[in-house]
Amino acid sequence: MSDCIFCMLANGEIPTATVYEDSDFRVILDANPASKGHSLILPKEHFANIREMPDELLGKAAVLAKKMSVRLTEAMNCDGLNVVQNNGEAAGQTVFHFHIHLIPRYAGSAPIVANWHQGVLTEEDKAEILSKMG
Ligand code: 5GP
Ligand code: ZN
Repeated sequence: MSDCIFCMLANGEIPTATVYEDSDFRVILDANPASKGHSLILPKEHFANIREMPDELLGKAAVLAKKMSVRLTEAMNCDGLNVVQNNGEAAGQTVFHFHIHLIPRYAGSAPIVANWHQGVLTEEDKAEILSKMG
């Protein structure tokens, strides 16, 4: 996709702060970080979201998320780390090239990942969802 900013960043067409690169992925620092060390895993090939990702590449992305979580935790000495992946505008996706957020968390810092209101699973919803997902 010639007009996709993440295609250009992932493939080095626009210089960016890169913390890891291999033949399939580039991991970059988010330009507007939620916390110090906030990084993005970008596949070099364009896929809009998780549904479009080929299984094998998605598997590699998951393994890389683990590897980068270990590295970030050691390098940044963070106390926790959120792995976030948004699909679709309604879910907060703003760049429509698959990416995984790695967000280091530091004890005592303000909450930065949306804390959703916890509802209660009703018997009606449970039955409906289980029948639809069956
Ligand atoms: P989304 O909301 O789609 O899950 O996340 C998009 C992320 O990409 C945001 O956290 C945003 O700060 C980051 N971002 C958008 N444009 C750029 C850019 O040009 N460079 C970098 N490094 N990050 C970007
Ligand atoms: Zn792209």
